[in-house]
Amino acid sequence: MEQQLEATTTRVGARSSSDGDESKNRRIKTTLAEQGDKLPIGILDTDGRLHKTIVTKPWNTRDERELGKKFPSDASMAEHVPLIVANMCSKLGPHDMDRLDDAQKRLIVSMMYMADVFYAYTLLRVKTMGHRLTLNVNCPRAGCGVNFPYTGDLRTLDVMTVDEIDDILWRYDLEVPITLRRQQVTHFKCAYPKWNAIEQARGNTNEAEVKAIAIQASIVGLNDALEPVALTLHEIDELSKPDFEGIQATLNENYLGPKMGLEGQCRPEVCTRLRRGGFEFNLSIDWAYRSFFGASSR
Ligand SMILES: [Zn+2]
Repeated sequence: MEQQLEATTTRVGARSSSDGDESKNRRIKTTLAEQGDKLPIGILDTDGRLHKTIVTKPWNTRDERELGKKFPSDASMAEHVPLIVANMCSKLGPHDMDRLDDAQKRLIVSMMYMADVFYAYTLLRVKTMGHRLTLNVNCPRAGCGVNFPYTGDLRTLDVMTVDEIDDILWRYDLEVPITLRRQQVTHFKCAYPKWNAIEQARGNTNEAEVKAIAIQASIVGLNDALEPVALTLHEIDELSKPDFEGIQATLNENYLGPKMGLEGQCRPEVCTRLRRGGFEFNLSIDWAYRSFFGASSR
């Protein structure tokens, strides 16, 4: 799922250019080093104020043993990422996590924006294990394919953020209007999704269905109606193929949070077909606990 939401371009809001304020690109591109201890989106309190604080806890052997009871070391991303964030942060937005029980902590994380959960997870990695991340690389250049360890710097990760909660919204104009809930729908109000969409898609191997769940999670309003809407998958089924793909594309364009890829170069001495420098590549970071937090990743 995170693969599908990963941005392939920095061009954001391109399809939402039809309507006033929503057309403005108010997503801010920064780096992990600059963003520091602040969530890329944040958590609203009961008064509607946005809180961006993250306070991480020191991570010792006792924590490692406690976490080990909660998930196996080969757990899927959907299982271990929220558990680590829930247990290793003492403050998330307005919430004092240490005062809550396990179920309350998990609920708070499942209601956080995906961008914030991935960001907190990455920040925890940097705080506990340092900023260097070593990946095992196969050079993607045709004719090279050399395998070597490559060490990247997580502080340089691009992070897309917003200052205001309304900046997570965009408008999507349907190519094929549909009838939903007894009205003709010509456009949706869309929003960057929360973590619980990943939990809903967990273990689902049907790629189209995972995409449908992501689209379902991002549609929050019909036409210009102010009241929020939560469509069922059955209702999502009515979307035309161009709109199914179109909304998916706007999800990528409106991506928020850390872009989980490191830029690197192959070794010039082995990337033989290049005269100078090495072949540049973009590597996806492996979220798995063992590779992201393990000794072998350092
Ligand atoms: Zn190479």
